[in-house]
Amino acid sequence: MNPFGYQRATSSEGAIRAVSTSGAKFLGGGTNLVDLMKLDVEHPSSLIDITHLDLAKIENSPAGGTLIGALVRNSDLANHPRIVESYPLLSQALLSGASPQLRNMATTGGNLLQRTRCYYFMDTAFHACNKRAPGTGCAALQGFNRIHAILGQSDGGPASHESCIGTNPSDMNVALAALNATVHVVGPKGKRAIAISDFHRLPGTTPHVDTNLKADELITGVELPPPVYAEHSWYLKVRDRQSYAFALVSVAAGLQMNGAVIQSAGLALGGVAHKPWRSVEAERSLSGASPGPDAFRQAADLALAGAKGYQDNMFKIELAKRSIVRALTIAAAGTRGGDRS
Ligand code: SF4
Repeated sequence: MNPFGYQRATSSEGAIRAVSTSGAKFLGGGTNLVDLMKLDVEHPSSLIDITHLDLAKIENSPAGGTLIGALVRNSDLANHPRIVESYPLLSQALLSGASPQLRNMATTGGNLLQRTRCYYFMDTAFHACNKRAPGTGCAALQGFNRIHAILGQSDGGPASHESCIGTNPSDMNVALAALNATVHVVGPKGKRAIAISDFHRLPGTTPHVDTNLKADELITGVELPPPVYAEHSWYLKVRDRQSYAFALVSVAAGLQMNGAVIQSAGLALGGVAHKPWRSVEAERSLSGASPGPDAFRQAADLALAGAKGYQDNMFKIELAKRSIVRALTIAAAGTRGGDRS
């Protein structure tokens, strides 16, 4: 690990000032950043400890939804009575991720900023990784790419300076996408609100940039709209083992029912793209439809339109479609409870 400075912030303003130093980063739970520092992937010049800021509350939002502070721990969020009751999709997604010990440490803001678990990004023995070392190429394209993206990727070839087929590893982010959350941030120029769909980026021509958060901006919280999917939602996570594994494919599905007809839907996928993959086309197709295999398969086909697999992950395309149908079927039945993937 490289030498780095450490500073504890006592106010948001002070934290923003301190992080403006070149190469400084905020430290919350540290469950991802410190791991990457140990692996020699991240090299912050100093860590600005924000854990003493007053950002760990869950409260009502003026719009009738819920405000979640950036420092609310994943365990506290998943088990909060309001989240369990009104946003069970989010609670399920959080409880399907990591381990109890990690969830006790990890924060909402940090979870938003999780970096990819691409093997070639995490292992500096591999030279080619445009995300870790811009301009070096992408080892995953000709390597073992079972966990990699099938939607929205940049793949000009292994030598291209733009290629990246990494995936966003978070479960929480997928639920937030389906719930149409908003991320609140503050920086030297003031506050701004970023729709969750605009917060994470596709790799495009700059795969080393994961989000649209500026380096000197602090995430203060996440806002959830008033709950509409509490009675009909499901988070389905398909993975290689039942716990402590990242998703091969995950689906966050929410349905707002009006009698026997779907009034509106929220649908997002994890494990398939550089960002949580929300499909507005699929959501539109479900709106006004009668719940059932035909409507769900049509939505699945729309969500996976344009999907492209590689030598080891071609299976994800059909797996994602079947997972969508399954998650929507369970959501439509009005099932609430734990993950039964
Ligand atoms: Fe790096 Fe992205 Fe390629 Fe993985 S997929 S090796 S993170 S550029």
